Amino acid sequence: MATKKPIRVAVTGAAGQIGYSLIFPIAAGDVFGKDQPVILQLLELPIALTGLKGVEMELRDCGHALLVDVISTDDERTAFKDADAIFLVGSKPRVAGMERGDLLKDNGRIFIGQGKAIDEVAAETCKVLVVGNPCNTNAFIASQMTKRIPRRNFTAMTRLDQNRALAQLSQKAGVAVTEITDLAVWGNHSPTMYPDFTNAKISGRPLTEVITDTEWLNGAFLKTVQQRGKAIIEARGKSSAASAAWAAIDHMHDWWHGTNGAWVSMAVISDGSYGTPEGLITSFPCTVDANGQYHIVQGVVLDATAQGRVQASIDELLEERAFVAELLTGA
Ligand code: NDP
Repeated sequence: MATKKPIRVAVTGAAGQIGYSLIFPIAAGDVFGKDQPVILQLLELPIALTGLKGVEMELRDCGHALLVDVISTDDERTAFKDADAIFLVGSKPRVAGMERGDLLKDNGRIFIGQGKAIDEVAAETCKVLVVGNPCNTNAFIASQMTKRIPRRNFTAMTRLDQNRALAQLSQKAGVAVTEITDLAVWGNHSPTMYPDFTNAKISGRPLTEVITDTEWLNGAFLKTVQQRGKAIIEARGKSSAASAAWAAIDHMHDWWHGTNGAWVSMAVISDGSYGTPEGLITSFPCTVDANGQYHIVQGVVLDATAQGRVQASIDELLEERAFVAELLTGA
């Protein structure tokens, strides 16, 4: 059997808690396939390099047959060199008392640098997934830095919101998660995002015919999904990590292998669909074809309430873009 050529997979913030849950499944073949060798290129801040060395030792100790090599570095260009897939997980956390604008700007600087480095050295076809928050705007900033790599190669993660919504709906309806289709998250990965249940189906039937408790759908359901991150911090004392890593795996897996017509939530560069300003990175229902190209699903009908919810999230993204506009000028 011919062995596939190894691909290069870069992960930033690799010694962080999401990174720790993410890189072992990549090495085991859960993302790119059980026949796809990988070279992991892990980026960390200089201060976290010792921790990263420990993670690298553990990775090697798993003895995964698909793991060809591990490169641990604090140099962006080394991490992104010839990368075929890139997970941008590392970003500066919001600390108590910090203004949202300052968080956007601090992270903006990181993503300006990383966008430029990716454009210089990564594979032209590389698929970039931004997980580090505020992920939509971070992805937007990085995408604006590119001259060689198409901007549409930059995406942000709303798959965790989709997975959270699926979990709530499947529990309420008493059906397996796999019975629920056409469920997509729209907008920003923030409490304004909108998991659209109005177009979803359960075993092929409109979801709203199966779950008739509209008060729950419009109230507790939306609130639970939108506030889930906060609830996990309160319960665990730490932010979600394994579920975030798993959503990143789902996102990249489906982008890499295709969705065979199924809808998945991806924050992608807007082409103006549904009146969304072009260039913004916002979540839509997407399908991915067999060539690994994503497409925004067209013709989805949103009622006036749903449209209002999506618009509120777009307005928030426009506000975030305005906060970082100055940074981008001349970057
Ligand atoms: P985590 O691994 O827990 O989180 C990393 C990022 O993912 C944060 O921005 C976090 O956002 C975001 N995130 C997205 N979705 C979720 C979700 N559902 N739940 C939780 N987080 C989510 O952070 P750690 O502090 O453990 O690790 C970050 C690592 O990144 C550190 O090791 C640090 O050294 C590194 N880093 C690397 C940089 C680089 O490589 N240049 C730059 C900056 C940091 P939120 O903050 O909103 O929780």
